Amino acid sequence: MRTAWLNVQNGPTGLCQCCRCCCHGLRAAYELDIPNALARSNFVPAVDSERCTGCGSCVDICPMDSLSLDGNDRAVRNPVRCIGCGLCVSACPEGSLSLERVAEEQVVLPPETYTGLMTEIAREKGRISFYK
Ligand code: SF4
Ligand code: SF4
Repeated sequence: MRTAWLNVQNGPTGLCQCCRCCCHGLRAAYELDIPNALARSNFVPAVDSERCTGCGSCVDICPMDSLSLDGNDRAVRNPVRCIGCGLCVSACPEGSLSLERVAEEQVVLPPETYTGLMTEIAREKGRISFYK
């Protein structure tokens, strides 16, 4: 399933803000035990435990409840709930979170064009005949 309908390599026309309150796609992903199976990016956040002060800002902003504080008040991430949106990185006042690119074999690129995207969606829905 594609959660960002205008996510193409050439001329993307949408920017996802990852709001599960108003986006049915993100809300559906959140309701799963494994949101990562429905929506993911080519990046994952990494925590620098030495710099983390346990303020909890990242926990509060994470739309998938992927983050929590451990017994030492350090942020920890549940990888199966993380969709790689990066909101936690922008919320950290200590700069202790950063986005890292996933391993090359796990990288998934969106279709190059809007036509390619719609064709791929139709193929996933079993309605490819519309685009022949
Ligand atoms: S990137 Fe950060 S905010 Fe986004 S889902 Fe993963 S842990 Fe949560
Ligand atoms: S926002 Fe940064 S400093 Fe605060 S708990 Fe999360 S990683 Fe730690």
